[in-house]
Amino acid sequence: MSNSSPLLPSQIRVSLGTAICLNILDGKMDADPTTAYLMTYTDGKCSANCSFCPQAKNSKNSTNMLSRIIWPIFPLYLVTQALADTFKKDKIKRVCIQALNTPNAFTQLEATVKEIKKHNIPISVSCQPLNRQDIQLLKNAGVDRISIALDVATETIFRKIKGEKTGSPYRWNYEINLLKEALTIFGVGNVSTHLIVGLGETEKEATNIIQWCVNFGILPALFAFTPIRGTALEKQTPPNITSYRRLQLARHLIVHGITCIENIQFNEHDNIISFGVNTDTLDDIINSGKPFQTSGCPNCNRPFYNEKPSGPLYNYPKSLNIEEIEEIKKQIELSFF
Ligand code: SF4
Repeated sequence: MSNSSPLLPSQIRVSLGTAICLNILDGKMDADPTTAYLMTYTDGKCSANCSFCPQAKNSKNSTNMLSRIIWPIFPLYLVTQALADTFKKDKIKRVCIQALNTPNAFTQLEATVKEIKKHNIPISVSCQPLNRQDIQLLKNAGVDRISIALDVATETIFRKIKGEKTGSPYRWNYEINLLKEALTIFGVGNVSTHLIVGLGETEKEATNIIQWCVNFGILPALFAFTPIRGTALEKQTPPNITSYRRLQLARHLIVHGITCIENIQFNEHDNIISFGVNTDTLDDIINSGKPFQTSGCPNCNRPFYNEKPSGPLYNYPKSLNIEEIEEIKKQIELSFF
């Protein structure tokens, strides 16, 4: 089958779970993705060098991984048709395209988005635009939501993990400005960022950047750092689960306007010791399980992106059952509230 646009790439990467959900690959899943996850295809590596990323130019990992997920390559026409069929059956509710930093990333994205958008599927794009024009290009192509990943909580850690010190082109202030530009193009509520917990930040620093995002109308999505073989951070450990639970709670409470950084208390290690919320409210929120589900764009559940299905589950891809909530209560050190 021929492509309908000369700019349209012939191939695209699809997360393993998405490929099974789309019925273009045989296999079993522990949880169905509610968003279809795609990644732009290049025959090399990303031109950036983020220390945690298997796609980074200096990573020794193969190019078929992002986080701990494998992303096989498929013809784009096959994927587009399968997306349309699966969306019609209401099995997926959104498409998310992750873009590597390559010279033709945005022309590739523009053509791919236009092709998928023919089927009226909501589209998120997670990318690193070079400028305002790149952001506008995506908006004009039909992208519904854009995510520009800060990934880290502070400027100092940014320099070390994905900025000047890594040989990546990214600069903290520039990325902050791009997020603000994105807000003027996509509007408040349609811009997200990804934050990876466990890159050397304190809980207070992570809470600060969450609050900063919310103040500006940017939705923060939490990820847990996952060490991947072949990356610069392959020997670093994932975040402490108790600390991650506290940050999930802080994020949920701040995003929903139930508390704010001024009301949250931290100890001498900058760990959260009080959320500034009464115990009954906090209990109800914990019992709902919602803070511990995957956060991000509507219907994004990223199954097992950060964790093995055997656990510990940092981000739950579906509603939690009573046993899971009880387990979480044990993980959260509630004694100090
Ligand atoms: S939150 Fe989910 S759907 Fe949105 S950009 Fe991130 S991975 Fe994609």
